[in-house]
Amino acid sequence: MQTRIEYTRAVEADVENVRFAHGKRLEGLHDLGIFTLRDLLGHYPFRYDDFSQVVNIVDITLGEKTAVLGTIHEAKARKTAHGGHLYQITVTDSTGVIKAAWFNQRWLANTLTVGKRILLLGKAEHYNGFMNMTSPLYTLVFGEEPALGEASRSDQHLQQVNSGPAPLGIVPVYRANSSMSSNWIKRLVLEAFKLAREPLDPLPPELRIKRSLMSRQMAWQSIHAPVSAENLAEAHKRLAYEQIFWLLMGSLQKQAMQNKRHASYGHKVTEPLTKKLAQLLPFELTDSQHEAIQEISHDMQASGRMNRLVLGDVGSGKTVVATCALVAAAENGWQSVMMAPTEVLVHQYAQSVGPLLDKLGVSWVLLSSALGSKERKQVYERLKNGSAQVAFGTHALIEPEVAFKELSLIVIDEQHRFGVEHRNRLIAKSPAADFLSMTATPIPRSLALVLYGTLKVSYLKNRPKRATTTTLNLERSVSYKAYDAVREALSRGEQAYIVCPLISVPVQQGNEEEHYLDNLDDFVDEPSLAAAEAELEHLRQKVFPERRIELLTSRVKSEDKQRIMNMFRSGEIDILVSTTVIEVGVDVPNATVMIILNADRFGLAQLHQLRGRVGRGVRDAQVFLISQNPGESARRRLRLLEDNNDGLTLAEADLAERREGDIAGIRQHGESALSLINVMRDGMLIEAAHADVTHLLEQDPELALSKHQHLRYELTHLTEQRHN
Ligand code: ADP
Ligand code: MG
Repeated sequence: MQTRIEYTRAVEADVENVRFAHGKRLEGLHDLGIFTLRDLLGHYPFRYDDFSQVVNIVDITLGEKTAVLGTIHEAKARKTAHGGHLYQITVTDSTGVIKAAWFNQRWLANTLTVGKRILLLGKAEHYNGFMNMTSPLYTLVFGEEPALGEASRSDQHLQQVNSGPAPLGIVPVYRANSSMSSNWIKRLVLEAFKLAREPLDPLPPELRIKRSLMSRQMAWQSIHAPVSAENLAEAHKRLAYEQIFWLLMGSLQKQAMQNKRHASYGHKVTEPLTKKLAQLLPFELTDSQHEAIQEISHDMQASGRMNRLVLGDVGSGKTVVATCALVAAAENGWQSVMMAPTEVLVHQYAQSVGPLLDKLGVSWVLLSSALGSKERKQVYERLKNGSAQVAFGTHALIEPEVAFKELSLIVIDEQHRFGVEHRNRLIAKSPAADFLSMTATPIPRSLALVLYGTLKVSYLKNRPKRATTTTLNLERSVSYKAYDAVREALSRGEQAYIVCPLISVPVQQGNEEEHYLDNLDDFVDEPSLAAAEAELEHLRQKVFPERRIELLTSRVKSEDKQRIMNMFRSGEIDILVSTTVIEVGVDVPNATVMIILNADRFGLAQLHQLRGRVGRGVRDAQVFLISQNPGESARRRLRLLEDNNDGLTLAEADLAERREGDIAGIRQHGESALSLINVMRDGMLIEAAHADVTHLLEQDPELALSKHQHLRYELTHLTEQRHN
């Protein structure tokens, strides 16, 4: 007789212990990343097929999705005319015959064999005198083969199937591979349950009651073999909650222990310098900036290390917020660093922040790989002896030679451009230092919680006063309105961007004219994509012959790129025709108009990034999105841009439509760690788990209480697993 503890640990056992899991099948499991029982049980279905409404073959309505249950009467594999592989079976029930065919799925010959009972789900059509389903979904039905006979028996049987429990109702579909089919996984999972009965639930009972979560055992059973849609939803909720819970528990607990190890700096922010800084600025801080600065100084004064993210659109004024923090550190007699991903950005700091620091009497240095070795040594020396209070730099800052006298604040700008490794290496130079990261990647709160756990977020909502108007033109070519806007801007001495999806027109195969004549209708309907090189000629010759127009694409040589950018920055170039290369890092405040051709070809986030290139100076900006005949969803996206200037709202809309796998950052937690979560849909669940974890760690940071014993076991185990 096994104890419950033993059953609990049983999930750690090698998956080989599961009946039927050997040989090729075992390899197939390994290829899917399944090594233990836990892995197998945690390999949740990615989809369910609803086979719950099974009909007799005679009652099939052609062209409608239907499920039928029958016996494989005949099975044939043959080559198709083009050398492909066709597998065709004939299925009968007591009322009729239907054929089903699959292409290029050779392994079916081993599974779908004569005599087996099969449930097919698909649309039937007439073909060669037979009803036929092409590539239907199927599931093999194990158990007694019904005697073929009179219809009444079959009806009786159908009744049983329709009212019966899984797997005939809602059938799970698993991520599979060629040596391990979804059906086999389903079977192995059921076998695995026999080995892992009644494990202890790692979540404390009070949490399960508070959030009305079913037991883990029940949830595992139900997610793999749901008896109803409601049952599945409950299982999903419990397991999704768990996924966030463990993730946050892992990061928050580590953080709590770290805070215990390193006494934090505890800045005193008395404000004379920050006040003076505000007076030096040529503008008023926005409300959001004020708020962010407040939040940061609060964290810097509090006991415990600051870990805060400042999140604001491009141009929302993050730099000045960070500058306040740098100044506050200097005010306490300590040092700070601000790291950025590119030389360009670092020099931008030197130009814009440097003079402010000078006026406040705060010493600073710049460290980049472009420095000569002598200068670099000097910088190292000043950081070490503390005579430099602020350091701006690129990755050069994380070099082992860089050491500080007393580093109390670390700022990382554009933090999404740095790997965790880089970040950690910088932090390692002063583990107790307060930490501030900044990004323009809009991350909704729920996602930020999932990605960073402990992180607090300051949102810079409104951009400083300037407005960008975005207008959608659903026309084939650029409207006069858009060109007029460019013309007016140029006449005021401002500049413009014109963005195209392609660099050059793709070369047509064969005779171009002939091609177009042959497909005249296609040609008329097909909106040809704008290419930057062609657009440049058109603008130079037809539209703005008197203006200086240049091209910037990834095909331009890198030294030319620099030269062209410098000329655009200094105003020698009026219009820059480009592709998305201008998406990152270009800051020309004098550019006020942007025309984006074939706007439907760009993603929402990308369009928003592009749009952020204008409206960076004191003037309002205009953006024209040109798009002919966008599809329904493209049109919706473009309207969203027209109506919203706020990157966060757009990101939320974007996220709501995407699967988690597409969201950068989530993937690094591993394929399965968050497979059940959709950050937008599950916002409430994420908040709940976050609150629960925080509360629990406040009471019992080391998880030492006996009621948390299973929780501690689970956590240790999951953490070990992740590191392997
Ligand atoms: P980002 O958030 O993209 O890093 P920056 O900090 O570079 O933005 O600021 C963009 C521009 O806006 C800079 O030229 C900056 O001087 C200016 N700026 C920042 N805050 C304000 C404000 N409150 N009012 C007007 N202009 C501002
Ligand atoms: Mg910035």
